[in-house]
Amino acid sequence: MNKTVVVAFGGNALLQAGQKGTAREQWDNVSRTCKALIPLIKQGHNIVIGHGNGPQVGNELLRQSAGKERYELPEMPMDFCVAETQGSIGYMIEIALTNELRAAGINRSVITLLSPVIVNASDSAFQNPTKPVGPYYTSKQIREIMAFRGASLNQKTKESCEISEGIVSVLTGETYMIDAKGNGWRKVVASPAPQDVMHSALIKEQAEKGTIVTAVGGGGIPVVIKEGIYKPVEAVIDKDLASALLGSKTGANELYILTDVPQAYINFRQPNEKALDKITAEEAKKYLTDGHFKEGSMAPKIRAAIKFVENGGEKSVITTADRLSDSNAGTKIIA
Ligand code: ADP
Ligand code: MG
Repeated sequence: MNKTVVVAFGGNALLQAGQKGTAREQWDNVSRTCKALIPLIKQGHNIVIGHGNGPQVGNELLRQSAGKERYELPEMPMDFCVAETQGSIGYMIEIALTNELRAAGINRSVITLLSPVIVNASDSAFQNPTKPVGPYYTSKQIREIMAFRGASLNQKTKESCEISEGIVSVLTGETYMIDAKGNGWRKVVASPAPQDVMHSALIKEQAEKGTIVTAVGGGGIPVVIKEGIYKPVEAVIDKDLASALLGSKTGANELYILTDVPQAYINFRQPNEKALDKITAEEAKKYLTDGHFKEGSMAPKIRAAIKFVENGGEKSVITTADRLSDSNAGTKIIA
């Protein structure tokens, strides 16, 4: 039986530092990344693709805000925006990868599945939202938002609106925080752990038939199940963790996390920096505990890589797309 591999495209695969995010730029990036997949596909593996959507969904949320101000259009919630970016990015992957497959003489289909991802309503992340999303607001605007929502401004919240530190103000279920760089206030949402991927059995079946399936874009659309009913929640699921979970659910053998660094390092950006070649999940856990990987960037990748091998995967690899042709490239994490 063919191996199944999950490839998670990082932000860089879709948009590079300094780029604005024009359609042209995104097409060029997606095409380059899809071309880099060809050596892996040529080995005959079943392929599942996951991807990030940070800049894309960020822009989408700003469009919602601008549309409301300029044309009084109803603002669509985050789950709509994630679904839209899954659709648009998946569409680019379908076209770009199909063109690369044809050029390589490979006859396989590429499809995209919109992916609700189930999270636990009692996940402690909901008590501690950390992920900034959407537009920046001034202290004045924050007070207006609070007034609009009918939240009373107690002294503590009022003070926190006026000082420029990362103080949290909780109002009617929404949390706003002052951005660390001092750009203003932003809504922060929870980043709960993914529990299950809707349609994962279908994704497995299609992948094993040779169809290349894109799913869990942007980490998936977070939903909770309440009394048997699926319900969207305002949250962001880490795309590396969601891709690892999809790997486990589809019985994948290998997980490739593609990013903009060739390997993970210990003592990152210090004189004694050392690239990690092949390490066990145990070693990776120790480096995590010792703080070698930054939260919000490399740490979630390492956690995802560990989870995948602990749930039966053979190996996780962290590297750049252009190194995929080298079977020895990147940081390999094994059980
Ligand atoms: P992606 O969009 O691919 O998820 P991220 O920016 O989230 O990209 O993560 C990749 C970044 O992680 C690298 O550009 C690097 O700056 C950062 N990073 C943090 N700690 C480490 C580390 N220990 N080793 C390698 N990269 C690290
Ligand atoms: Mg990231």
